[in-house]
Amino acid sequence: MGLLTRIATGALALSLAGCVTGGYGTAVEYRPHVEPKIPLSLPANAPPIAQQFMPFTPDGELGHRGIDVAAVTGTPVLAAAPGVVTISLYEPMYGNRVVIEHGKDSAGRRVQTLYFHLDDRMVEVGDTVARGQQIGTLGASGLLSSYPHLHFEYHRETAPGARRRGGTNYWQGMAQEDPNHNWAAGPGRITCYTGQPAQRDRITYPVACR
Ligand SMILES: [Zn+2]
Repeated sequence: MGLLTRIATGALALSLAGCVTGGYGTAVEYRPHVEPKIPLSLPANAPPIAQQFMPFTPDGELGHRGIDVAAVTGTPVLAAAPGVVTISLYEPMYGNRVVIEHGKDSAGRRVQTLYFHLDDRMVEVGDTVARGQQIGTLGASGLLSSYPHLHFEYHRETAPGARRRGGTNYWQGMAQEDPNHNWAAGPGRITCYTGQPAQRDRITYPVACR
């Protein structure tokens, strides 16, 4: 509860700070105090990144621990890697949410990706999903969303076996990483899904490119 409240507070502060949305193939800058700033290349057909990863605010509060991808409501949201759906639910703050577990990385640490503010969910808990499979549609569901976007997070265990299951505390023992570290083509190289194979812990863009 405490962590969720802090996450919610950080996200709310950011939404009040306003959002900047560019066109396809563009990404907003990292906030000045955030390091490292990963140099990004977006394919021209990729929906824009409207907000970057920011682990803490300049005041040391919990920041924005994912990326926001902006597109029109109804745009397909795609599984960023193959895995199994562990959460598919609606709650008032983040709206429709899906969590996919991708198994373990080469160091034995579990990896999961999280998708928030969906307009519609198309998968249920226990479903096996392929990379690039549509899991829902982009939207603005939940009180923390003021415009249509996908809030996307990448979580990795802090050490093998660190994750604790139980209740809704599925993030315990997991670290939220900048998704831009983990694209299939390499750090900062945003990779639209085109059917290409990739390591299970490497992600393709979670919103359909056009
Ligand atoms: Zn966000």
